[in-house]
Amino acid sequence: MSGEAIDRRRVTLTFDNGPTPGVTDKVLEVLAAHRTPATFFVVGTQLQQPGGLALARRAVAEGHRIGHHTATHALQLGAAEDPEAAVAAEITAIEHDIDALAGTSETEGERLFRPNAAGGVLDKRVFSPQAVRYLRQHRYTCVLWNCLPRDWENTTSWVDRALADVARTDWSVVVVHDMDTGAMDRLPAFLDGLAAMDVEIVPEFPDSCLPIKEGRLQHSLAHLTSGDG
Ligand SMILES: [Zn+2]
Repeated sequence: MSGEAIDRRRVTLTFDNGPTPGVTDKVLEVLAAHRTPATFFVVGTQLQQPGGLALARRAVAEGHRIGHHTATHALQLGAAEDPEAAVAAEITAIEHDIDALAGTSETEGERLFRPNAAGGVLDKRVFSPQAVRYLRQHRYTCVLWNCLPRDWENTTSWVDRALADVARTDWSVVVVHDMDTGAMDRLPAFLDGLAAMDVEIVPEFPDSCLPIKEGRLQHSLAHLTSGDG
């Protein structure tokens, strides 16, 4: 998948749909114990939960990155009846809050966005032409993935599936969810498995998973965009 020539296998860890009090706290403790960096793609409604914002701030303070993962995670940009209204409601509405969080990190100014691909399905419901235009104009970096072990369904076996994916990929971008499914109880086992494989866990993303980088279109999004895309 990735075109980057590398010696050692790399892995980038991402946690979506949080923060979730009682879960994200434990994830942060496990990451700290393993000295492992990650990016948390947070949802606006989760930030508004009691304790949500504090967890996101803690993640930044502990060296992790924060990305924008929509305001409500209830609507797909490419499936909306009114695409402009969906951009306003799902992206613009919490942009200031995400900027304020992410801007305190070392990578100040970087705007990461991950779309809601319901169930992990990458199809034309993921983006609308209006959303792509907005993300480009506002200099977002869109972060997709190449390892989705479906931890929300396979709350135990996701670890084996993810490790198998990592074993055959030069640079894996792993998506798991700091949600209340029980799956994150297996995070230590996953990180131990990665350590045994001697992979390098890095905070950056391979270009192959970034269709838009700082507003520049790197790969066609036609297959992920509604209408004429
Ligand atoms: Zn999500």
